[in-house]
Amino acid sequence: MMMLTKKMIEIRNILSQVGQSGTLTLPSIVVIGSQSSGKSSVLEAIVGHEFLPKGSNMVTRRPIELTLINTPGINTEYGEFAQLGLGKITDFSQIQKTLTDLNLAVPASECVSDDPIRLSIYSPNVPDLSLIDLPGYIQVVGSDQPLELKQKISDLCDKYIQPPNVILAISAADVDLANSTALRASRRVDPRGERTIGVITKMDLVEADRGASILNDKKYPLRLGYVGVVSKVPQQTGLFTRNTGNITSIVTKNENAYFTAHSEFSPDSGLAVGTTTLRKKLMHVLENTMAASLQTTIDAIRLELEEASYEFKVQYNDRPLSADSYLAEALDAFKHSFKAFAETFGRPQVRELLKAELDQRVLDLLAQRYWNKPITELAASRPDLNPLSTLTQSGEESTYWTRQLDASSSALTKLGIGRLATTVTANALQSHIEDLIAKSTFATHPFARDAIANAASGILNERFYSTSDQVENCIKPFKYEIDIDDNEWVKSRQMAAKSLRRELQECEMAEKSITDAIGGKRKVKDVVSFIDRIRNGEVVLEGDGSGGAGGFSALLLQKGREAVFLRDRAEIIRMRLLALKSKTCSSYASGKYKCPEVFLDVVADKLTATAVLFLNVELLSEFYYHFPRELDARLGKGLSEKEVDKFAREDGRVASHLDVIRKKELLELVLEKCNSLKGLEDRVNRDDRAR
Ligand code: GDP
Repeated sequence: MMMLTKKMIEIRNILSQVGQSGTLTLPSIVVIGSQSSGKSSVLEAIVGHEFLPKGSNMVTRRPIELTLINTPGINTEYGEFAQLGLGKITDFSQIQKTLTDLNLAVPASECVSDDPIRLSIYSPNVPDLSLIDLPGYIQVVGSDQPLELKQKISDLCDKYIQPPNVILAISAADVDLANSTALRASRRVDPRGERTIGVITKMDLVEADRGASILNDKKYPLRLGYVGVVSKVPQQTGLFTRNTGNITSIVTKNENAYFTAHSEFSPDSGLAVGTTTLRKKLMHVLENTMAASLQTTIDAIRLELEEASYEFKVQYNDRPLSADSYLAEALDAFKHSFKAFAETFGRPQVRELLKAELDQRVLDLLAQRYWNKPITELAASRPDLNPLSTLTQSGEESTYWTRQLDASSSALTKLGIGRLATTVTANALQSHIEDLIAKSTFATHPFARDAIANAASGILNERFYSTSDQVENCIKPFKYEIDIDDNEWVKSRQMAAKSLRRELQECEMAEKSITDAIGGKRKVKDVVSFIDRIRNGEVVLEGDGSGGAGGFSALLLQKGREAVFLRDRAEIIRMRLLALKSKTCSSYASGKYKCPEVFLDVVADKLTATAVLFLNVELLSEFYYHFPRELDARLGKGLSEKEVDKFAREDGRVASHLDVIRKKELLELVLEKCNSLKGLEDRVNRDDRAR
């Protein structure tokens, strides 16, 4: 015995990982028979367990690809459904239930499905066999069954009984062989009866001489012969409980009792009877069929391998790739780009970011505290073009503006700079990392993208509170006192002008887009002058104007109000720009209260400089140190082989590349195995001949 079947089953398992490819099928024994012919009983007697679906309602609707694997030395027999991932099932009634569920899941309207259920059974008591159980042929379609059912079952069986498969045609002894659907089907595809084994069940139901004559049948001669069996499980004896113990011995004992009681079946008769004989025959026939198809299998594998090699060459230039190397390269490249980024994002860049943020806050404060006067009021001070100059002349007003400045400055210093600065910096880092991801190999890998983004946010979050506390602490002195020297003033005067010009530009742009939205300058002018008239009290609106007024729609009025706001804002800024140029604003001494833009810019600048010092130490340096290490932990050694594979396969191109390589490797492996089996077989044959 070469154990060829076992090895071929192993090979088939490897091939199944390559993917379904029609050309690579290894021979199996296909079991066909009419309903109630005793098909399940025969299979169960071979397996030693009751595990097939039972019931009157057409319980086998899908092919069951049953692989029996002789496994010496295991204590508990078990089954496994390869496709379901349920693990080892040692309770055969559970297997039976699962099979029933899988079968009944095929909708009644479809009647049968050709999608096979794969079940492997491991036991020291089973032979190595590959069997396919098919739905039983039906004679008459039941009233609740679709008319085409009969044909569908027959078509499904025809699909499986093709060469090189061996056909196990089950017929019951109490039915005339001429009426056996199984034998008729087998004759259609195997007219010379070369690959069909006839099984006659229920031998106990006919007279012994009649049974013997069936087995001797000359009308339907089969090269592999007929085997008679009595595979019914006898009624329970006290010691035996169904579904828990192995039924082989009890079936064979019962069967032997029958056959030995009838001399027609004596060893001299030359008739093949009994489940044990059948098992041996099946093993023998399958082994021979496997051997005979070995060369064809080798040729098919070789062809498949050539195709895979060709694809590998043409599509992938013979470039080796593994999920590991793919990840390692991607990670390296990413770390590299991160390093390059870190070199360009340091103190000056953070400083600029933070300053821009504070500039905006300063503008908001100015708008809130200084630009809120109607323009006419501010414009009353035209002579020196500084709208604040007259307001600061009298003592009382001067106190007002002193307080205004103190309040503004204090609003700025108490803004929560620590939190703001940390947030701005952390957000900038996070979004830069996202940019780097988008430009990297990881862009197409959701898993890695998340891992990287989480690595970044993890570090940033961890440092967030301590950094913002540190920054807040170190800017504390500015909350009480701000020293300004002339140089700082001069520099901030320029900065403030720049900031105002930018704001002016934005106002003008917004005005333009409103003009475009309203539809032309003329229309804008009309609605704006209408709104001015409302403001001056020349027109009184009835209600709140939500239904429109003065011939303008509510939407137009709304846009008009925005235009008026922007016009006023622009006008104030233009005036403030002139004010900044005035002599008053040229020095700290004369401009402190009259030029709040400059004063607040100095404050913002001081806050920025101090905050950046700490941000650099507490956040940037820490981030630059920990981030690459965190990447390694999350995407490097930290990942299991399965995770790395899953990662690589997220990219369709990589997945196909890996698939081709894997297919090639697996085919090379099975080819080698098949070749060595063939070598072995040839040697055995030579030795046999020599003997
Ligand atoms: P299937 O529909 O072809 O799978 O047939 P089953 O294996 O379910 O058997 C149909 C019926 O025949 C059941 O009641 C079995 O108990 C009975 N049966 C099967 N084999 C034998 C046998 O060898 N002798 C007797 N007397 N009954 C059998």
